[in-house]
Amino acid sequence: MALTTKTTTAASAVATVIASGSWTRDQCVTLTQLRTGHSPLLAGYLYWIGRRDSAICPHCNEADEMAEHLVLQCPAHNQA
Ligand SMILES: [Zn+2]
Repeated sequence: MALTTKTTTAASAVATVIASGSWTRDQCVTLTQLRTGHSPLLAGYLYWIGRRDSAICPHCNEADEMAEHLVLQCPAHNQA
């Protein structure tokens, strides 16, 4: 899937959630940032923009902290 298609799909999904009125704007912003990989919650993104010295996950130190790692793979978040 091309980046523009992914971005359009993510934007469409967020627009649907906003229209439903069930999520706040801040929640939608966080979701969009995670879906696009441009989130200040991600060490990988902060490293990419020069705000961190490493992209390694500060929670487990096992992999680069990207959205997929943070949400699905990080062993430090398996307790939820
Ligand atoms: Zn981790």
